Amino acid sequence: MRAQPKASHFINGEYVEDTAGAIIECVYPATGEVIARLHSATPAIVEKAIASAKAAQKDWAKMSPTARGRILYRASQIIRERNRELSELETLDTGKPIQETIVADSTSGADALEFFGGVAPAALNGEQIPLGGDWAYTKRVPLGIVLGIGAWNYPQQIACWKAAPALIAGNAFIFKPSEVTPLGALKIAEIMIEAGLPKGLFNVVQGDRDAGPLLVNHPDIAKVSLTGSVPTGRKVAGAAAGQLKHVTMELGGKSPMIVFDDADVESAISGAMLGNFYSAGQVCSNGTRVFVQKGIKEQFLSRLKTRTEAIRMGEPLDEATQMGPLVNRSQREKVLSYIEKGKAEGATLLTGGGIPNDVASEGCFVQPTVFADVTDDMTIAREEIFGPVMCVLDFDHEDEVIARANATEFGLAGGVFTSDMARAHRVVDALEAGTVWINTYNLCPVEIPFGGVKQSGFGRENSLAALNHYTELKTVYVAMGKCEAPY
Ligand code: NAD
Repeated sequence: MRAQPKASHFINGEYVEDTAGAIIECVYPATGEVIARLHSATPAIVEKAIASAKAAQKDWAKMSPTARGRILYRASQIIRERNRELSELETLDTGKPIQETIVADSTSGADALEFFGGVAPAALNGEQIPLGGDWAYTKRVPLGIVLGIGAWNYPQQIACWKAAPALIAGNAFIFKPSEVTPLGALKIAEIMIEAGLPKGLFNVVQGDRDAGPLLVNHPDIAKVSLTGSVPTGRKVAGAAAGQLKHVTMELGGKSPMIVFDDADVESAISGAMLGNFYSAGQVCSNGTRVFVQKGIKEQFLSRLKTRTEAIRMGEPLDEATQMGPLVNRSQREKVLSYIEKGKAEGATLLTGGGIPNDVASEGCFVQPTVFADVTDDMTIAREEIFGPVMCVLDFDHEDEVIARANATEFGLAGGVFTSDMARAHRVVDALEAGTVWINTYNLCPVEIPFGGVKQSGFGRENSLAALNHYTELKTVYVAMGKCEAPY
């Protein structure tokens, strides 16, 4: 098997196996080939990971933030040096084209390690608070052991986005990748050790949705940071609340992208395609409801159809391939069933709508698909599909489109395309979303906060704002005179 790791888990600086755990089969989504076979964590593996994290965390927290940062920075350099190897593994694990993984996965993880390693030490300072003689100060202290749980769309990036702020703040980190894409995080763990991270601070524990609760419910886990769907978020946040644990929830979306008549149409089409077809549509912040003002509808749809039909699908390891398969068969079946619902409920199928003819029959490919004349009540306009399915809806007026854009339980992201900057900012203010892009879509450099509102979650990843979610404040009151009491 061409991507078989030495063992399933990475604990205390080394690969560890326990064959008593349920088998996790890793399949290359483009061909159906089994590329690795791993085991889900047993309770013994979970205990081992937690014991090693606990043993390592106290000394790590005592190191200077700059010394911690130096290790994170070194890890970012090694990731960049091995970008090709890591990207090929990410492509095998997820099916995403190498054209994408080479620029958007391990490199984005390296960006986070570099950013938090470089600037965060200065942001971990506390405050001095004068009280007129007496005074107080605050310290930012780590939480202890942070558990990261990943989705399958950006496995290496998610591992690094969560690990970097957790580690720089002095926490130990345990990562449970999605059982669908378990391979990349093991390589990141190896690199962290090579960069000088003390053993036990970055452990990887594999597990399916039965093993996840073993970690979430463990009393030694202080915080859970989940990237996943809304139903999983409810379960994990509920379990964490039972023990009053900190949580960050990066969940799903059904984000609106609003294109006004005065927008640069080609640029808006680029935004809509990026926000629906990148990673075969498996991106949480995708602008899957594209509201197009009626004056440009025909021009928009005609160019969108032409450009969508020119997308090159195929073998993801081929650098010319622009779109790969979905992550597995069950995701493909789910997406195809949404396409059938779209047709049945009366949306106009502009292009795509099925399995392409010219790709490997064992692969999980779905054509890039565009529905026009979609209305707000259709299933495809309300539920997260997580595949390459774009819904185009018409609108007349600004107030109308804002109300319709916000009429969803989700609030992850949004976009507006217009040449009128006053309108752009007015619409941004009115949209209920954690991140909104003006005249572009889905750009997430690590310098900016990322996260959702409403049912899309809470907490923020990246930027200095993330540090608030991986530390807590300790307040110290300093009396300068005697302690007086009325007794
Ligand atoms: P999922 O919810 O099925 O699984 C996410 C992770 O949670 C997996 O590792 C899974 O094993 C684990 N899990 C499931 N049940 C659990 C439980 N009871 N306790 C502990 N862990 C449990 O999500 P997915 O299908 O892997 O990913 C797709 C979803 O993730 C989409 O909804 C997408 O929008 C969302 N997502 C969100 C973001 C974001 O940043 N907001 C990013 C990527 C993906």
